[in-house]
Amino acid sequence: AAAKKAPTRAPQYLTFGDIGGQEQAKRELMEALEFLVKKDALYKLGIRPLKGILLAGPPGTGKTLLAKAAAQHTNSVFVAASGSEFVEMYVGVGAGRVRDLFQEARKLAAKEKKDSAIVFIDEIDGIGGKRDGGQQREYDQTLNQLLTEMDGIQGDENPRILLIAATNRKDSLDPALLRPGRFDRHIQVDLPDKTGREHILNLHARNKPMAEDVSLAKVADETFGFSGAQLESVMNEAAIYAMREESDTITSAHLAQAIDKVMMGERMDRETTR
Ligand code: ATP
Repeated sequence: AAAKKAPTRAPQYLTFGDIGGQEQAKRELMEALEFLVKKDALYKLGIRPLKGILLAGPPGTGKTLLAKAAAQHTNSVFVAASGSEFVEMYVGVGAGRVRDLFQEARKLAAKEKKDSAIVFIDEIDGIGGKRDGGQQREYDQTLNQLLTEMDGIQGDENPRILLIAATNRKDSLDPALLRPGRFDRHIQVDLPDKTGREHILNLHARNKPMAEDVSLAKVADETFGFSGAQLESVMNEAAIYAMREESDTITSAHLAQAIDKVMMGERMDRETTR
């Protein structure tokens, strides 16, 4: 979803250091990634491989960033898709796409000579939501294909595949996905607290000239409830206000205007979707 929304200025190779806040999520994810890094030791001990990690939390909190950083951290190739891309009118198309995604991961790993691949599926609830009515048949085939792919993941294969999925509606996932050997690890990715917000703001201020009067700690104070994506937006909008005024630096006034704008945009989104 990142590509569609914020005009990301993220570096090409994203590391955990480029993600603000989310200390606990980062720690838990890095722990889980040991499974990929120490795969030979695990295999020798007969430990069953970790196949799936589920990142759950509200939109724009950095789930996609975490998945990309996980790939960088483990020297894996990264392929990504959104659950909504698999919902199709014709039976079998969604299932075929799931198969292709895993195949693409294996091919890319071979091409880039990497031992592991991370497959990222954003909005997994689009595939693996609880089964109820509607496009039931197609939907089941797609979900079943995903389960088949997960069940086929072996500890000793090359490349080792790890599926990372994101959702902001964990409650609505089909229980089949949550069984042992599927998404074994669940990591909560919540809205940032004040320290997290300040960290995120600092990251997005890296390439921006700030006026002397700017305090990002104060901005963090004033942006309670903002997601990382919204904080990125604040910094970007503030830079646009600065440009309009032909100012060389971003001032606290520009930031105040930007906060209002992002807050207002959010309110309008909520009203139009009601
Ligand atoms: P969605 O559920 O909508 O897909 P997400 O949780 O995957 O959202 P990302 O796509 O990772 O969110 O974040 C969107 C953008 O917001 C990022 O490209 C980045 O600019 C900014 N952002 C979000 N969270 C953070 C963070 N913790 N640190 C730095 N930037 C962040």
